[in-house]
Amino acid sequence: MKAVAVFPASKEVKLIERVDPAITRPDQVKLRMLDVGICGTDKEICTFAYGSPPQGESYLVIGHEALGEVVEVGTDVRGLAPGDLVVPTVRRPCPHARCRPCRAGRQDFCETGDFLEHGIKGAHGYLAEYVVDDARYMNLVPRDLRHVAVLVEPLTIAEKAEAQLYGLMQRRPPWIDPAATERMIGKGHNALILGAGPVGLLGAMALLSAGFKTWVYSRGREPDPRIDVARRIGATYLSTEDVPVSQLSTHIGPIDLVYEAVGHSLLAFEVLRELGPNGIYVLTGVPDKQTLIEADPSALFRELVLKNQVVLGTVNAGPQAFAAAIADLQTFHLRWPDAVSALMDERTPIDRAIQRILDRPARIKSIISFPSRE
Ligand SMILES: [Zn+2]
Ligand SMILES: [Zn+2]
Repeated sequence: MKAVAVFPASKEVKLIERVDPAITRPDQVKLRMLDVGICGTDKEICTFAYGSPPQGESYLVIGHEALGEVVEVGTDVRGLAPGDLVVPTVRRPCPHARCRPCRAGRQDFCETGDFLEHGIKGAHGYLAEYVVDDARYMNLVPRDLRHVAVLVEPLTIAEKAEAQLYGLMQRRPPWIDPAATERMIGKGHNALILGAGPVGLLGAMALLSAGFKTWVYSRGREPDPRIDVARRIGATYLSTEDVPVSQLSTHIGPIDLVYEAVGHSLLAFEVLRELGPNGIYVLTGVPDKQTLIEADPSALFRELVLKNQVVLGTVNAGPQAFAAAIADLQTFHLRWPDAVSALMDERTPIDRAIQRILDRPARIKSIISFPSRE
């Protein structure tokens, strides 16, 4: 079967031929892969900035935003059957007894750093025609999400953030409107999304669904399909070319929540200064090295203290976030079918995957698909 692999030692990315995997343990499932989404992490792995093969192996099969169809189940597997659609959980627990998050099934909070991530760190990914994996890490997806479920994994980032946000908001008495239902915790609040990539726009859908009045702030002006998506879902788009950071509050009013999804540390830092009283600032982008600036830490910390602000970093996602992402994607798909479809580019067959990944990053989600063998 075909797979896409990186060879870090020789700095090569290749379409390789591997033997079809077979179930070797009774708790495993075999998947035929349907769609694999590509993100900045894949590009970093393919330019050898990141990513590590499984121990003792020379290459890493990449791909972590996956949708597969179960074709075979081990004898101990319950709750999954051939024909089911699943999205695999990317991160797997570290082996250490002292790591409480991993022992509690919350490896997204792993404290040792010795976790594995399929397609990223120490475990093969899903950009392959077939995969064998542990059944308990498979998240069942309803059939009607077949064409959009590749967005589940990037949506889990917003879902994990939102779950933490909900906890934080409940501890800030004035935050939640007494008239708001549990699904509408953002009612009466303003949210600003930094970045109009798939993670940002999926985050915008999640925050709008939670009742926040939502703005998306990014580079670029119309025409741009991402700006159309923002508009169609009911967010207001602000271009960095038209609105300087210092004027954001003039357009928005008090910024109660920032959801950063761009990985640009300077922009993130500047916007932090605009966060409103009692505001929460969620960082999800992983910045690489950027220009150094002079800063006044005392002014920054003074504001954080005097305004009761929270800065929250969040990475990866646990099982609850996958379940929430699947449920929310179903809602988004019903509410904004065109906008959800517009987040995804045309499918690229696996034979042309490498070129697709190494090309300039697409503005919307690139997806690699697998022609059926039957
Ligand atoms: Zn990704
Ligand atoms: Zn751990």
